[in-house]
Amino acid sequence: MRLVAALLLLCLTHLVPLDRACAGAACVVLDPGHGGIDPGAVTADGVYEKTININLAREVRRFLEAEGVEVFLTRSSDSTCPSLAERAIMANEVRADLFVSLHANSDIHPSCKGIELYYYPGSRRGEAVTGIIKQVVAERETLACCRVKSAAYLVLEKTAMPAVLVEAGYLSNTAERKRLLDSSYRRELAQALAEGITIYLQRAVNYR
Ligand SMILES: [Zn+2]
Repeated sequence: MRLVAALLLLCLTHLVPLDRACAGAACVVLDPGHGGIDPGAVTADGVYEKTININLAREVRRFLEAEGVEVFLTRSSDSTCPSLAERAIMANEVRADLFVSLHANSDIHPSCKGIELYYYPGSRRGEAVTGIIKQVVAERETLACCRVKSAAYLVLEKTAMPAVLVEAGYLSNTAERKRLLDSSYRRELAQALAEGITIYLQRAVNYR
């Protein structure tokens, strides 16, 4: 996330509005971080965070849709890069019940590892969502769960609905980078995230 502020300047595309509004009983906007000319974190062996993020988002979408949740993505390919404000505007315009931004972390200390879940400081609903997701992820032994933190990230601040930002692991940690590149690990993480999201939606909007 440290790169986000600098790279934000690279992402001044015009807003491409999502072409419909939420119509289902429960609706989530998934936000794969970075994209286009903004790769996010880049590792020495050429792994781009933006690619991890969108692959994870597609997996989470698949699990959510199987549970009857309507899903929008703020970007559906690796060629576009909405600004942070545009991502929040998209979620507000479709009137999503929940906004989930997906990122992968990086740090100069290669020992840093683990999944981190962020909500906006003081947001009780955001805290509730992160708490539920943490609980579900922690039940899976293969996943490196989980620190919950609050941070004033723009996408969390500008979204009108409960919002969470997931740092899915540290690309700067060799073991976690390998796991995030492994499709079966990503699938398990996506399934856990989708399960947490679904539990929250059942409580919050009673969608089925
Ligand atoms: Zn990121």
